[in-house]
Amino acid sequence: MQYDFYKSPLFRVYTEIEDGRMRMKTSGAASILIRKTLEKNLSIFEGEKPAKVEADRLICSTWMPPVPSKGFDRLVKSQVFSILGKMIPDQVTISVTEECPNNCIHCALPDTKNRKKLTPEIVKSTIDQVLEMGTTFLIFDGGEPLTYPDLEELIRYVNPEKAITGMFTSGVGLTEERASNLKESGLYSLTVSFDSAYEDKHDHVRGRKGVFKSAVEAVKNGIKAGLLVNIYVVLSRDNVNELEELYALSSELGVHELSFYEIVPTGRWMDHASEIMTPKDMRKFENFVSGAREKEGPRIFPIPQVMKTTGCMAGRKWLHITPEGDILPCACIPIPYGNVHRDRIKDVWKKIREDPAYNAKCCLMRNPEFREKYLKLSE
Ligand code: SF4
Ligand code: SF4
Repeated sequence: MQYDFYKSPLFRVYTEIEDGRMRMKTSGAASILIRKTLEKNLSIFEGEKPAKVEADRLICSTWMPPVPSKGFDRLVKSQVFSILGKMIPDQVTISVTEECPNNCIHCALPDTKNRKKLTPEIVKSTIDQVLEMGTTFLIFDGGEPLTYPDLEELIRYVNPEKAITGMFTSGVGLTEERASNLKESGLYSLTVSFDSAYEDKHDHVRGRKGVFKSAVEAVKNGIKAGLLVNIYVVLSRDNVNELEELYALSSELGVHELSFYEIVPTGRWMDHASEIMTPKDMRKFENFVSGAREKEGPRIFPIPQVMKTTGCMAGRKWLHITPEGDILPCACIPIPYGNVHRDRIKDVWKKIREDPAYNAKCCLMRNPEFREKYLKLSE
């Protein structure tokens, strides 16, 4: 079976699944030129497992619209624009509420105790504006988005022909019934966070007993409801020795993808810049990723590795809205460039794009110069 990434009279970019892996191919008169231009982009998929193969569509990753789809066509258009120098916020995360029953050591939200939330009206206006700008992935997070009663209404509001929807959750509150409501509302992917494959350790990081059990239940309920399920692990020095166990847990639960991010000194972990992953930890991670590629089990999405190709997404491909309505270049950079209650997102995006800092190759929040200049933090 072949799945078209792009088709025009001059060339075609498509993938074939061979031995469960994606093989990126091009054909047509301009094929050689296109292959050269897109080499870096195609390398992200070449030889990788897809998240799910269906008869009429391919889910390369839970982070991307299916191939083919109108949302995917919009993403391709955005990639073409970015080659031409015009950036579009492909991914927008909306922290609908600050409310959360957990108290994680490394939460990206400062613990303000304000318990702010965005009204459904303001979230809908945000959705309208970013879809207009070209966004293809809208993620609802928090706090804990499951505490937000109008979540299903917001998901339903997103035009599936324009963007896919995702939800980031600790899993607390995701009953079988809620999972099926979310699926019916049109939720595309469910992302459940795990900090450890071990119950005690996970609960310790999450600041409360029982969160691990809730996360496991949430994954099972999501799969039962027919959602695409992604396990999300923020890698740190504390869990980098548990990579095999995390993979075994994900395989056992039958998730579609296991994504890794790297711990960022921000929010409640802001003054921990000296405790980020070491080069040795990163080598351990890279070895694990190459080993797991050969094994049976879910697709791995190693964001720190992918970022070596794509660069930092902050203010280039990603925009974040906080429960106060502040517009940030990414969820980890606590610098408001505007607020959805008073500014047009398009104008704020323009302001961010005028700042040359937001074309970074590596994580800005792990960059001492950026931290000193923009956040007045010297470590
Ligand atoms: S990281 Fe997520 S689950 Fe943990 S306290 Fe923060 S919002 Fe809640
Ligand atoms: S600054 Fe860049 S790499 Fe760091 S968390 Fe934000 S988007 Fe990710």
